[in-house]
Amino acid sequence: MKQILAFALTAAVSAGAFAQAFPSKPITLVVPFAAGGPTDLVARQLAEALRKPLGGATVVVENAAGAGGTIGAAKVARAAPDGHTLLVWHIGMAATAGLYRKLPYKPLEDFEYLGMINDVPMTLLGAPKLPANTYRDFENYIKANGGKLNLAHAGLGSASHLCGLMWQSAMKLDKSMTTIAYRGTGPAMNDLIGGQVDVMCDQTTNTTSQIEAGRVKAFAVTTAKPLSGHKLLKDYPSLQDMGLKGFNLTIWHAMYAPKGTPPEVTKKLNDALQAALKDPEFIKRQQDLGAMVVSDARVTPAGHKAFVAGEITKLKTAIEAAGQFAD
Ligand code: ASP
Repeated sequence: MKQILAFALTAAVSAGAFAQAFPSKPITLVVPFAAGGPTDLVARQLAEALRKPLGGATVVVENAAGAGGTIGAAKVARAAPDGHTLLVWHIGMAATAGLYRKLPYKPLEDFEYLGMINDVPMTLLGAPKLPANTYRDFENYIKANGGKLNLAHAGLGSASHLCGLMWQSAMKLDKSMTTIAYRGTGPAMNDLIGGQVDVMCDQTTNTTSQIEAGRVKAFAVTTAKPLSGHKLLKDYPSLQDMGLKGFNLTIWHAMYAPKGTPPEVTKKLNDALQAALKDPEFIKRQQDLGAMVVSDARVTPAGHKAFVAGEITKLKTAIEAAGQFAD
């Protein structure tokens, strides 16, 4: 009995000491897409905002791109569960659960859910050379030339892929565009600007500055209503307002740790995330890019997990109905 008590006491002390020591080295936020894209940007801004609530810890971003985000997610699922390797991903966490019949991890079982970060609308873009300046002209042009055009995305199961699929099906295109997969929409954006690809649907965190600089043509936003509160994006109609009934796509981002990360550590990470999302500088930087930091209920681990479970079911039904799979 004495021995068991002594053991329990040692275990409790070492768990406490471990939590005390966390973080004991730099924290890596793994982004499952190439650098220079929208998920990368959210993660880099978050890394800065997390620094202070984590006691001045170094927080770095690592890009582990490929297979629509599933390679980076698998990397985090297999990482040491000590809170120093985390995943920042988006709606792909739920979409790939439907799109890939085999995944190298279980989305609801292999991660500790830490909380959501933001909601981000998407924008439909065209290369600057396209002969269209309004959404109506753009849609007519795509309908007439669909088979000859290229649509860029960040891999099967990525947000840009999902948006491209939903939009083409809502327009009832006779001939789908040829899809070109990139390791992220950062590099895809360069090709869109250069005219090597014709069309892309991407998060406002990647598109806003390019639209503002006039490097690409923007035609519509994917939210149900136009973004009336945003100084630049308010000028673009929603796809619903342009006649695509029920079209409403918003991308959310969230943060995860490997399964088995000690609760003391996940609590510290969740507290830090809650604090980062209240940092006025982070909120402003996100708002400038059309993103909205989420409210408290979705930043709790339980709220986050329940939300993702619902999204998996919703997206799986839609994907199965469309008969579109990545593998
Ligand atoms: N926006 C990309 C996507 O389509 C990913 C990225 O590069 O952040 O999922």
